[in-house]
Amino acid sequence: MGNASEIDETTLLNIAGRWLHALTEGSGDVVTLVDAHGRVQYSSSGASAQELTGLDGAEATRVRPADLVHPEDRDRAVAAFRQLVLRPGARATVEVRLRHKDRGWIAARAHGYNRLEDPVVRAIVVHTRAVARAEGPVAAAEETASQRPLPSEAPLAQRANSAFIEVLSRACERARVDPNSGFSVLLVELENFKMLLGTYGDVVAGEVQNEASRRLAELLGEGDVLADLGAGEFGVLLSGSRDQVVASKLADRIQQALAARYRVRDVVIASSAVVGIATSERTYARGELALQDASLALNRARVTTKRRRAVFQTSMRVEDTRRMAMLGGLHGALQGNQLRLHYQPIVTLASRQLVGFEALLRWEHPNQGFIMPGDFIPAAEESGLIVPIGAWVLKEATRQMAEWNARFRPNDPLYVSVNVSGKQFVEDDLAAQIESAVSTSQLAPDRLKLEITETSIIDQQASAVLVLHAVKALGVKISLDDFGTGYSSFNYLHQLPYDTLKIDRSFVSRLGEAEGNAEIVHAIIVLAHNLRMEVVAEGVETERQADELRNMWCDSAQGYFFGRPLDPLRAAEVIAAGQPL
Ligand code: C2E
Ligand code: MG
Ligand code: MG
Repeated sequence: MGNASEIDETTLLNIAGRWLHALTEGSGDVVTLVDAHGRVQYSSSGASAQELTGLDGAEATRVRPADLVHPEDRDRAVAAFRQLVLRPGARATVEVRLRHKDRGWIAARAHGYNRLEDPVVRAIVVHTRAVARAEGPVAAAEETASQRPLPSEAPLAQRANSAFIEVLSRACERARVDPNSGFSVLLVELENFKMLLGTYGDVVAGEVQNEASRRLAELLGEGDVLADLGAGEFGVLLSGSRDQVVASKLADRIQQALAARYRVRDVVIASSAVVGIATSERTYARGELALQDASLALNRARVTTKRRRAVFQTSMRVEDTRRMAMLGGLHGALQGNQLRLHYQPIVTLASRQLVGFEALLRWEHPNQGFIMPGDFIPAAEESGLIVPIGAWVLKEATRQMAEWNARFRPNDPLYVSVNVSGKQFVEDDLAAQIESAVSTSQLAPDRLKLEITETSIIDQQASAVLVLHAVKALGVKISLDDFGTGYSSFNYLHQLPYDTLKIDRSFVSRLGEAEGNAEIVHAIIVLAHNLRMEVVAEGVETERQADELRNMWCDSAQGYFFGRPLDPLRAAEVIAAGQPL
């Protein structure tokens, strides 16, 4: 037999098909390869297929999978599939009822893996198996948190308006066949849209969106396309130019136009826009791929401080892959026992006696040493992985604190502050989790404080308010972290049951620099006290700052001056010593 290049494609496909068949036939799953349009290219035969649909492989390729799905589950399944198609490498799981040829509805769990970009596979690989015979509707996906698929349903999917993708796909095709017909795609995001929604509600936010849409439309020429993608986002197709400079100039004008004040029902609102750009300098097979690159550029634009716009570069894809790999590693870290908590002392300013600790997460990476939370928490939040991680943090911090209190401070127990991310409010039953952590550890509930930032709950105001009240009812304390950064709207201060306000370290570090700074800090302290909140100052690095804060009646403080975050052994030594810090 000759070498591979002498085998024609059909023969190769036949061989591959036989391999595939041999591998999948005995599997407990029905394995299906589906193209981006939802057409079945291959479906395995065998006992599992007989059990699930009663269709053999060839029959299955002649039906549309959506037609096999129960009408009530169809929208959900189609939506999940559409999201999956947009993200090469992503995975997603759905539970649906499937029609068996002669047995009625069968409840099944389908797990899809997007391998459209893999030049050999070029398909979504779906593994489906029966879970139980269904009478009524099937429960929503019941994966345990740690099995939850990694970054799949990323935000791009929500913004990927299908009509816009189609327009882009046509532009991609034109650009491929006609070298003179280039295009650029711009993804535009209003930066404080979520805050607007939280503060003023959907009517006002909706009017801002409409006004922004009108301003954008004015900037576009004939042949350009504007897509209102909702939630403060827009897509722009700039026809005829693949030139980065031209696209960047348009981005500038867009930013200027969107930065002008919005006047909605007596409210004057300021906003600004971030822009991600991809151009047809790269050849795109499909619209979603161009949009995906624009979205990677948008991610970059969000973190660039100066211009707040970015043009896609291949390196961004590499970074995205690296980020995905990091998330994979983090998933492993959670299961492989590589997460650690360090504890930073909190003292009362009057006597400098220890009153508690803030638990701070570290990832002890086998090769890279300690990785700090700033380097992995944002990605963990975006992917949802923060939910199981946060659950672990709660359990571990309460366990540790209860142990220390029993050992060293039975009569004067210390408290532990635990950072909670906004995602934890919606994705899990946080109140039940906290109740269980407290009762398992036997830590007195008022010795647990949850630290929340306004920014983190802005998206989930409604559920956060409910959860926080439930948590309060348990006797657990709530602390508003990083006050003074983010949105710091005084509006929320009295809506939520905070016990403690933590002044962000940026205020503390500016103390003594200029006159006004101390006044602001003082005003925050007075306000908090009037609202019956205790005040903790963060990031105290010098004795002078500590003194000044004490003179302003700030209750407690935390910072390098009193102690850095310590590993549990060293934290225990500090408790045992019982000395002022
Ligand atoms: P944070 O809650 O505001 O925590 C305080 C951060 O300030 C910590 O950084 C701490 O090490 C640092 N810090 C404390 N005193 C000083 C000081 O005197 N000077 C300076 N320059 N820095 C000081 P770290 O440990 O890197 O944590 C960063 C952030 O990561 C935390 O900010 C918190 O938002 C987040 N984080 C940490 N652990 C967790 C966790 O378990 N869950 C969640 N969701 N977020 C966490
Ligand atoms: Mg904190
Ligand atoms: Mg803080």
